[in-house]
Amino acid sequence: MIKRWRLEPKSEDVEKYKRGELVEPQKPIIFYIDPATPKKWVPYLMQGVDDWKVGFEKAGFKNAIMAKLAPTKEEDSTWSLDDARNSAIVYKPSDIANASGPSISDPRSGEIMESHINWYHNVMSILRDWYFIQTAAVDTGARKMVLDEELMGQLIRFVSSHEVGHTLGLRHNHGSSSTVPVEKLRDKAWVEANGHTPSIMDYARFNYVAQPEDNIGRSGLFPRIGEYDKWALEWGYRLFFQFNRADNEKGFLNKWVIEKLKDNRLWFGTETNPDDPRSQSEQVGDDAMKGSLYGIKNLQRIVPNLKEWTKMPNEDYSNLRNMYNGVVGQYQRYIGHVTKYVGGIMETPKMVEESGPVYENVSEEKPKRSGRFS
Ligand SMILES: [Zn+2]
Repeated sequence: MIKRWRLEPKSEDVEKYKRGELVEPQKPIIFYIDPATPKKWVPYLMQGVDDWKVGFEKAGFKNAIMAKLAPTKEEDSTWSLDDARNSAIVYKPSDIANASGPSISDPRSGEIMESHINWYHNVMSILRDWYFIQTAAVDTGARKMVLDEELMGQLIRFVSSHEVGHTLGLRHNHGSSSTVPVEKLRDKAWVEANGHTPSIMDYARFNYVAQPEDNIGRSGLFPRIGEYDKWALEWGYRLFFQFNRADNEKGFLNKWVIEKLKDNRLWFGTETNPDDPRSQSEQVGDDAMKGSLYGIKNLQRIVPNLKEWTKMPNEDYSNLRNMYNGVVGQYQRYIGHVTKYVGGIMETPKMVEESGPVYENVSEEKPKRSGRFS
């Protein structure tokens, strides 16, 4: 069952839609922001929702999704955050360091009817920790315990977009970042233009491969809605009026997907395959041996500065302990990414019309290099 919101052109716009003109849907997807949300973060949460507009444009719809402030009691006394007709990003004043994007769908049709995204307050602490550990060697703004408002805001925007992505029907694509050659992650012009992963639904976090001498700005360190995400929405939401039954679409869609996936930046690697080294959580680039070495070099740059960068007046060394443990955990993660090549089995789902194997052993060269870690 495909889960998707019902997006349809207004009756007077159907012909325009068929001609390929962008039209507004009958009913856009609206996410209200919980009025209890700390005011300074509201614009960033809203931006994370609005960022998906470009994805729906691929499917032929403009202004298909938007964030709105919750109406005040004076504006609408009947509005409620708990009303199942209102989708919302709900602020949870909680020390849980997470966020989630659940949705309710009709089990008969797959139509997504509403979503209440959970944004727990302390997701900000895990964002700070990730950004510090993965980028402090290259971004001077990451070298402190209380990040500037603009930087934290952009981190919140990224999480908002990721969770909204789930509510639009998208799964994690842990394989997406493996389509990017490691050296491109160090190429300032390329990575700032394209991002370090083609999907915000990957667990690619931040570009830990970037080295200080590469001078890569935040646009090359942060995830963003990318080619895969836009393609996924195009596939999921474009309407084909030439077919009167879903069955009749099948052959057409199959050919379309086969053709599109010749571009490997649109590849989907599941989050549930433990054997494929391409589909690893928290790993970026096409070669973990090279990528992890760059990541470790950055950790080596951070460790001598940990005491200074975690220092806060009138505080003890809890921050130092926390970040030291974070660095050790990240080092173990980098090593773990490399060991995945030993005995690794790659899975490339295919339709019967496509040639080549679905399952392949990782070629001999990579496991050998992972043993030497070179
Ligand atoms: Zn997720």
